[in-house]
Amino acid sequence: MECFAHPNISAVAVCKHCGKAVCHSCVVDAGGSIACSTQCAKEVREHDEMTQRAKKIYGVGETKRKVPSGFVMWFVLGAVFFGWGVYNSVGARSIDWFSLLMGVTFLGLGVFAYIRGRDIGLRV
Ligand SMILES: [Zn+2]
Ligand SMILES: [Zn+2]
Repeated sequence: MECFAHPNISAVAVCKHCGKAVCHSCVVDAGGSIACSTQCAKEVREHDEMTQRAKKIYGVGETKRKVPSGFVMWFVLGAVFFGWGVYNSVGARSIDWFSLLMGVTFLGLGVFAYIRGRDIGLRV
């Protein structure tokens, strides 16, 4: 792959906005991303900013780990207790209400934490 402006020089990167191949001397830094011109750099920066905002709104990426951090834990705990309850109930041939109820409680907390986390994410 060669630079779009210098046909004999091999490209080192691709413009994030227009997809043109650029060589080392043509690369324009767009806040951590690569662009081929200041025009594209501006577009890339705006696009990156938009992506960051969208991530916050929809709760993906870093924010996903932060906002509903509790809910995954509750779901895992709920699944473990519920699974344990079912396992015990089948093994002992009598229903292990304690573990099953704990499982359901944790799953309920997980749903609650998830909804709360999603609400927070959407309000930003
Ligand atoms: Zn470009
Ligand atoms: Zn070039």
